[in-house]
Amino acid sequence: MSGRVFRRSTIADPPIAVDAHGSTIIDAAGRAYLDAAGGAIVVNVGHGRREIAAAMADQAGRLAYAHGSTFTTEPVEAYAREVADVLPVDDPAIYPVSGGSEAIETALKLARAYHLARGESGRATVIARWGSYHGNTLGALDLSGRRPLRRPYEPWLGRFRHVSAAYPYRAGDPGANALGSGHELAAELDRTIQQAGPDTVAAFVAEPIVGATLAAVVPPDDYWTAIAEVCRRHGVLLIADEVMTGFGRTGRWFGMDHWGLRPDILVAAKGATSGYWPFGFVAASERVHATTTAPGGSFVHGFTYSHAPIGAAVAREVLRILRDESLVAASAAKGERLQGLLRDRLADHPAVGDIRGRGLMVGVELVADRETRRPFPRAERVTESVVAGARERGVLLYSGTGSADGTDGDTILLGPPFVVTDDELIRIADATAQAVAVSAAPASASAPDRASGLP
Ligand code: PLP
Repeated sequence: MSGRVFRRSTIADPPIAVDAHGSTIIDAAGRAYLDAAGGAIVVNVGHGRREIAAAMADQAGRLAYAHGSTFTTEPVEAYAREVADVLPVDDPAIYPVSGGSEAIETALKLARAYHLARGESGRATVIARWGSYHGNTLGALDLSGRRPLRRPYEPWLGRFRHVSAAYPYRAGDPGANALGSGHELAAELDRTIQQAGPDTVAAFVAEPIVGATLAAVVPPDDYWTAIAEVCRRHGVLLIADEVMTGFGRTGRWFGMDHWGLRPDILVAAKGATSGYWPFGFVAASERVHATTTAPGGSFVHGFTYSHAPIGAAVAREVLRILRDESLVAASAAKGERLQGLLRDRLADHPAVGDIRGRGLMVGVELVADRETRRPFPRAERVTESVVAGARERGVLLYSGTGSADGTDGDTILLGPPFVVTDDELIRIADATAQAVAVSAAPASASAPDRASGLP
């Protein structure tokens, strides 16, 4: 390759991806990789869908771009109508953008604009949680309670407040900023709002099931109803970040569907276009939309690529495929199967602390000691070794660090496309178990090959 690419990868000489189909990516040397993480939990409908390429090309050939402040377009209007049927938001209005971070920034500004339109200009405080990820632009990063990503940029951060993660496995562990009871967590949010002054709080933002930061952590069952009640009581908007959990990833259309909740604002990206086009959106409830756009309200915002027609055309085709092929139900069933396969192979492994998730969003937490949940020291780079070991076996996983205390804590996230076959699920579970066995030996055992992750 040219050597002029400012690479994102930490792999010294990354393979060149040239082709993909189903759950498989092929590199220039002809090597096949099972994409067990769908990239970064993105490729819900699978790779190589010619019908999506055709929808994209068709739209580009007719109308690639028209500025969103001057025009609306048929794909944007049609997509907003069609996706409304599956969104857990009352009478939603859709604001399309280019990805998850942009969508989060849009949601934050929209919450502020809503309160301004109601004459509540004092409402500026936004509360999020530790152990969360909402994006890498500065506003979204500031919202994120993911310390390894925040650390270099701390001098620029600090606008938002954070409450505890809903993380039963590490509830009460020193450094984890986590609680395990929905009631306690809701009481903490209530206290935080009271301390800030209820009429100064604009919004609470959280992932329904935590993605990359903690690896598929499902909150306690009473959590979301209690949190929604606290928000409603204080006039605080509830913003659900469904960038990773959306579009069937957790076995329901959206994560909030597991608890029958309807947030005021929902944020989506990733699976909305399954990686075929950079796309995301904010869905505002009718109340938020009507208030903000009524005379006296205004939403000062927008990007060059907001409301762009090609993204909407692609999203529309992805939505059609998810529906026509019943892929949300497939995610639920295959997710259970994947968790079962991983439990069969790993439940008794001394370095496996927890296996969790919903649908095809499955997490494994690795620990040096199962009894005490003591994490491996970060310097051992255990999750990186496991991911490298699985890659050597032709299976791509997604690593996470810092779950235990912001530095230590190794997690693996799995999220294959919903078209993954049973044979592929078995191969994914086998490769994961083998990589864990080699790379995550308990701290007392000698592990000379840990650095390479190779047997
Ligand atoms: N929110 C969540 C829950 C995410 O998982 C991500 C990305 O991983 C984002 C927001 C940011 O999305 P993007 O990377 O498209 O900006």
